[in-house]
Amino acid sequence: MNYFSTRDKSLEFSFKDIFLRGLAPGGGLFLPAEIKKYSQEELNNLSQLNYNELATEIIFNFCSGEIKKDELSSLIQKSYSSFKDKEVVNIKKIGNINLLELYHGPTLAFKDIAMQVIGNMYDHLEVAKNKTVNVIVATSGDTGSAAIAALSNRKNINLFVLHPHNKISNIQRKIMTTIGGANIYNIAIEGSFDDCQKIVKDLFNENSFRSKINMSGVNSINWARIVCQIVYYFYSFFRLKKNNISFSVPTGNFGDIYAGYVAKKMGLPINKLIVATNKNDILQRVINTGEYKPDKVKATITPSMDIQVASNFERLLYYILDESDSKVGSVMNDLSSKSIFNLEKKEIDKIKKDFEAVKVTDEETLSIINEIYKEHQFIIDPHTATGVGAAKSFNNLGDIVVIGTAHPYKFNDTIKKAIGKNLDSPEHLKLNIDKKETFDIIRNSNSEVKNYILGKIQ
Ligand SMILES: *Cc1c(COP(=O)(O)O)cnc(C)c1O
Repeated sequence: MNYFSTRDKSLEFSFKDIFLRGLAPGGGLFLPAEIKKYSQEELNNLSQLNYNELATEIIFNFCSGEIKKDELSSLIQKSYSSFKDKEVVNIKKIGNINLLELYHGPTLAFKDIAMQVIGNMYDHLEVAKNKTVNVIVATSGDTGSAAIAALSNRKNINLFVLHPHNKISNIQRKIMTTIGGANIYNIAIEGSFDDCQKIVKDLFNENSFRSKINMSGVNSINWARIVCQIVYYFYSFFRLKKNNISFSVPTGNFGDIYAGYVAKKMGLPINKLIVATNKNDILQRVINTGEYKPDKVKATITPSMDIQVASNFERLLYYILDESDSKVGSVMNDLSSKSIFNLEKKEIDKIKKDFEAVKVTDEETLSIINEIYKEHQFIIDPHTATGVGAAKSFNNLGDIVVIGTAHPYKFNDTIKKAIGKNLDSPEHLKLNIDKKETFDIIRNSNSEVKNYILGKIQ
């Protein structure tokens, strides 16, 4: 399978290239040259498969020619063996909500589903066979721990995780700073997630530094992550056995929901994809008004969604702007020079064919958690609650699947505020609460981060 850049279609890359690089040269994002579209008969056949079989079929479309199918199958099997459920994900009916629980992996967030596969792909593609790979990742709280769980103690791999200092939950930080081996470096940046993400993007765009340290990335801009996330849209759609299904997705970097968009492109007849945002509502604004204008990041009780620059949105723009790399390039230039771009009415209409977007405030989120607990004795995490809140705004969409993105235990302080009691740690979380945390606090500065990394890898 060949890949190109959203800002330059003439560039050609293999799966292994894009896996290792994450970001295209010149700052664009990678997209596959073709997206397989399944016929109704093929969909019927796929619907008979268990989770691992389905994951093998779907992921294989994007790496065929480079990974053999039977090898991919055992890689996937191995990746999901640490999950609590044999079927990886879990679908529950809570009142009239269909909840797709994606948080039964080793670090209790949906990020594990892609990251466990990616960890094994580093070994399988032998990218670190002869030379150490330095993986740099920015996290709003969950990507970091999922990456650490996936890459800890792998040979010839170092992992540097940048999280915004004091802007993630205590348990998120605790998991991140205690579970890693000697190849893991946690950095608390004095800034927001957007600052962390910008540092990582800047370092990727600095050719000399990137090649000097043999740098690789696992942020949600890495296409391999999106690919792994497509699977559960198919899986849950098939299990519900309904015709008219929409998905409500707690959204930050537009990665998870973009996987749903790709699933739809592959022929899965999804009705609407509902973007649920918190107060950092740039995606809600662009989808409803056409104006994409990053604001200052505001801290909320859903820290994994405290993002104003939703990187993966560029992948949607490519299709909305008539698959024109120059149009994408010019819009992204506007964004970097004027900190804003505007979409035209016909472009908004195109987006609205597939997407809806709703902002949910912290107050609403807390009352949803409380309500669901009172009515159903069931506890959902605040991110998932924004998905429930957004779904509630629609009564004409048929069945809605709410994507459950994290286990509530990760946000115990907020849960306590909402329902007045604490949760116990789930059994499969291997967390030693008393273990000393290791992380270094660094100023929001590219050069300080570069010096830190160079100092560690010498
Ligand atoms: C990462 C994350 C999100 C946002 O997902 P995106 O792919 O960035 O849109 C939502 N909820 C939780 C708990 C997360 O960890």
